[in-house]
Amino acid sequence: MNVLLVVNARAVGESRARRIAALLRERARGAELACTATLDELRRSIERLPRDEPGRLIVAGGDGTVSCAVNAIAGTRLELGVLPHGTGNDFARSLGIPRRLEQALEVALGERLHTIDLGECRCARPAGGTVTRRFVNMAEAGLGGDVVTRARRLARVAGSALAYQLAIAWAVARMRYAQVEVRVDGASLGAGASANVIVANGQYFGGGLRPFPWARLDDGRLELGWMRRVARAEILWRAPTLLRHGLPRDHPDVSFGAGAEICAAGGEEPVPVEADGELLGQLPADFRVLPGALRVAGGALAAEGP
Ligand SMILES: [Mg+2]
Repeated sequence: MNVLLVVNARAVGESRARRIAALLRERARGAELACTATLDELRRSIERLPRDEPGRLIVAGGDGTVSCAVNAIAGTRLELGVLPHGTGNDFARSLGIPRRLEQALEVALGERLHTIDLGECRCARPAGGTVTRRFVNMAEAGLGGDVVTRARRLARVAGSALAYQLAIAWAVARMRYAQVEVRVDGASLGAGASANVIVANGQYFGGGLRPFPWARLDDGRLELGWMRRVARAEILWRAPTLLRHGLPRDHPDVSFGAGAEICAAGGEEPVPVEADGELLGQLPADFRVLPGALRVAGGALAAEGP
């Protein structure tokens, strides 16, 4: 089997990158190793791989690295392996990939493969035209888009977990409810004031928050949680609780759905759209499932949780 291991050195740090290299030499002779300093370099090194030959790409880094790799291998016959690093690792969590490097490498090189769905988000660019991106965990329109923008700015001065918490507070304080219409597989769920539209492929996002414990990576559908006019104070004070153990199914201001295609359209005001923690553009957006689009080495898929 052709194996290429790409280390996002900026995400994992130099000493861990050296440890990964040493382990790889020991466990998988003949595997190629590439160290990259930016996600652009990572993408270019993956895009240089033969498109029609089977093989395995193993990436070392956080969820940003995984998301970049998933987009770069679209249309190839490559399987994916993941060596998680950082505070996020929501994808690794969904796939039961151990955090310890030695064990994670064993899983990444192993025979146990899952065929899982991906999400694909197509939304408007502020300057015109559209942008399309695959995602593994979650995509959002509204507050979540604003949170990732602010979290990125704050991460320069605070750790990423703290930055995320501060970004929620900052974004909620500035939040305005947008007018949004949501459709699931062509049927309208209604239109009205909207705080945040969350579309989920996996169960986790935001570094271990688990808003959709019922989501499955292999059921050919995306989950929807539409936070309508949920009060600012409630989001501010209850966000970690609301999101950590599953969005409350009986909340009067949250609508749920699931389907192969979820569409959201806004009014005059631009509503930011993010996928896997990266700001993509703004509404209108289509989120569709790509059933069985990725073969990935993992442990046990996260079961439907409590
Ligand atoms: Mg699903």
